[in-house]
Amino acid sequence: MNCSDFERMIPGYLQNELKEKELAQFIQHAASCNACKEEMTIQYLITEGVQRLEDGKTLDVEKELGEKLRQSKRHLRQLRKLKDFLEGLIILLLLCAIAAVIWFFVR
Ligand SMILES: [Zn+2]
Repeated sequence: MNCSDFERMIPGYLQNELKEKELAQFIQHAASCNACKEEMTIQYLITEGVQRLEDGKTLDVEKELGEKLRQSKRHLRQLRKLKDFLEGLIILLLLCAIAAVIWFFVR
């Protein structure tokens, strides 16, 4: 992913609309590119800040955005774990099916 891809995806990220694959690339780029992280901070400030001012609440951009990024990483890890689990389950089922077929012909 390059910087212009990243910039295009910032609004989607802030609205939690990115798909898993996009999200993984997005997080990776955010971790390695300070310019883009700054750009994201600004966009977050604009979108969230306006809303927050209307509600009369304070805004700690660095902290909130950091927390959002951590949550995204956690979410990706959980998805990966779930996938690993499902893959393991499928392999197990396949082995059972093979065993059943063998048993059927051998008995
Ligand atoms: Zn960048």
